[in-house]
Amino acid sequence: MDHSGVSKMETILVLTHVDETGSALTKASLEAVTAGIELTRQLSASLTIGILGLNAEAAASVVAATGARLLAVSGDAFAQPRYATDAAGCEALCRATQASIVLAPGSSRFTRVAAGVAHRVGGFIDTHITALSGNDSVDATRWFYRQRIEAVVSRNARPWFLLLDAGTHTAYAGESGAATVEAVAVTLPATRTAVEGLRIPLLDAQTIRPDAKLLFVTGAGWTKKQPDGQIHVAEASSLILDFLRLTGASLGSSKSLADQKAEGEQSVLPFLTHMNQIGQTGSTPRHAKGLSTCCHGEEPHVVGWRFIGERRAISLDPNCGWTRGKADVVYIADAFQVIAKVNALLEARS
Ligand SMILES: Cc1cc2nc3c(=O)[nH]c(=O)nc-3n(C[C@H](O)[C@H](O)[C@H](O)COP(=O)(O)OP(=O)(O)OC[C@H]3O[C@@H](n4cnc5c(N)ncnc54)[C@H](O)[C@@H]3O)c2cc1C
Repeated sequence: MDHSGVSKMETILVLTHVDETGSALTKASLEAVTAGIELTRQLSASLTIGILGLNAEAAASVVAATGARLLAVSGDAFAQPRYATDAAGCEALCRATQASIVLAPGSSRFTRVAAGVAHRVGGFIDTHITALSGNDSVDATRWFYRQRIEAVVSRNARPWFLLLDAGTHTAYAGESGAATVEAVAVTLPATRTAVEGLRIPLLDAQTIRPDAKLLFVTGAGWTKKQPDGQIHVAEASSLILDFLRLTGASLGSSKSLADQKAEGEQSVLPFLTHMNQIGQTGSTPRHAKGLSTCCHGEEPHVVGWRFIGERRAISLDPNCGWTRGKADVVYIADAFQVIAKVNALLEARS
């Protein structure tokens, strides 16, 4: 609403980008499309979807049914993420639409350029947005202080860029169809960075899977002396990796386990790094379910479980933090035995 109390018509642009195929929108982009559609409806605004990528026109068919105006920035220059070209492409899309609200997925590709683009078009940006609502004004929700305080932010400044956290909206899934796409020309800047290729970890080394339904958390108990007086790290390692292979779960860790080092800098469980750490000084992922094993469930760890739908834990300690109201179901049991049995059942089923 402006100072006269009259609502201004918002123009909404959803910035999206393609995945590694070069011609399909990423899931996070489709989530941003859903957010854009919902906000457009609430504000009775107009919606444009801007697509950036090698073959952005081809990617447009999946959003044809939205009825939005579709703009594309396409070509070899946008085949790989690179600051100079991505920023120029997004800037061109913003200038072509003169949007007052720009929504974009908080992907690594857009997180890198969005603040720069907002600055170029004289706008403001807020990141890690988890929800949007629009009546007289646009309200954006985000968490602060390690997901302990939830705030609703509203700004008069326009254009206002909002980067959305992945997993906070359902991915748009309308009928694919023939799309009318307007190509937006970009004056390409001089580039200093040439992308020569990608080096990605082997599939089984990729243990962080944000799209997995299940978060599997390992705690320090896996490397501690067990009732037979021995430690069983090799067995723990194969039980955990088998479980991940059989379930496709994402691997999380307590800080105590991620901190443990064997020789040199390598972790006792070599597939674990601090990237896996969940908690106050780790991450706060979003999964439908979580299973904690050999972890005590202390508050600095459990604060990272805020967005896990259903929480279960396996611990030997009947007085662990999980049993004190932090999990929905706690199995007081030996995780070595339970996971071995679960793996055998899963193996038999597959
Ligand atoms: C400022 C600050 C920030 C922190 N940030 C984080 C953070 O981000 N993330 C985090 O995780 N921690 C964090 N911590 C540390 C946290 O307080 C705990 O020390 C840590 O989470 C403990 O890890 P753990 O439960 O794996 O280990 P432990 O406390 O050693 O617990 C191991 C558990 O395994 C159980 N166990 C052993 N063997 C078995 C078995 N065979 N079957 C089943 N259970 C078994 C034991 O009974 C025990 O309960 C932080 C601490 C501070 C002070």
